[in-house]
Amino acid sequence: MSETRPGVENVAANASREAFAAWIDSAPDGRLFGQVIVRPASPAGYSLRHEDDAEAEDLEVSEDPRAAREIAKLTEGGEYRPLKSSPNLRRGWEIVVPDARGLVTAMNYLYPAGVVHWYLHREGRLELTSFRENAARQSGIYKRIQRLSDEGVQNAARACCEDAVCLKKTLWDVDESTPLDIHRGEGEIPCPEPCSIFVSFARRVRLFERENRRDLDAIGLSPSEREDLAALVEAASMGEVRFAREAEFEKPLNERRMRYRRLTLVPKLRQDG
Ligand code: SF4
Repeated sequence: MSETRPGVENVAANASREAFAAWIDSAPDGRLFGQVIVRPASPAGYSLRHEDDAEAEDLEVSEDPRAAREIAKLTEGGEYRPLKSSPNLRRGWEIVVPDARGLVTAMNYLYPAGVVHWYLHREGRLELTSFRENAARQSGIYKRIQRLSDEGVQNAARACCEDAVCLKKTLWDVDESTPLDIHRGEGEIPCPEPCSIFVSFARRVRLFERENRRDLDAIGLSPSEREDLAALVEAASMGEVRFAREAEFEKPLNERRMRYRRLTLVPKLRQDG
């Protein structure tokens, strides 16, 4: 039988597990990672809870770190969570694990790759990929994000990546010489590269850019801007403005799409007024 040697990824996984556990051990009051507060448990092990449940007493307690998988899957309202770093983790649970291995297993379900990225970033070894590098690798319907303007990338990142909608710290830039001019985030989990949600949103913003140039009406609004305004007024008039699902960027009342409109449409409307 051939001897198996740990690969580079295993070495990083082992080192990150030890470093993460040591980081928690050095903070008796706990550490916040995303929306999860992690505390050393007595007499050994770790306790994980939603930060808003730090002092709650009526939680559903599990000793299986894999319970985190189900917890991470749906929002409080039962909607699928396509982006685990969105600030919509549900409450009402506690996971108690006996050791660092269980701790990292649970954290990897809650924030996939979060611990190893946290570790590599602390070590100064996290490799970053800019938007342009990422875009150059895209194919099919996503290839068109290669044509997104720098301003489009900036506004897409402000709408898609800031702490109100994603708790990762955005480390990537537009390209080597163009930094992202956004609030990069206060959290502990680094984001080294545009994720698939961002790429999908960037594709939508590129569609908006194209129609802006060619399809403006007499008052300077594009078809999708008119569509969004109409949907918003209609929903508000019924007293029920509810966001579309998180990754449904084709829907007018998507939260990130609305955040993008605040950056691009509201100034236009105010100026016209
Ligand atoms: S690209 Fe943006 S939305 Fe995606 S994980 Fe990174 S910071 Fe969050």
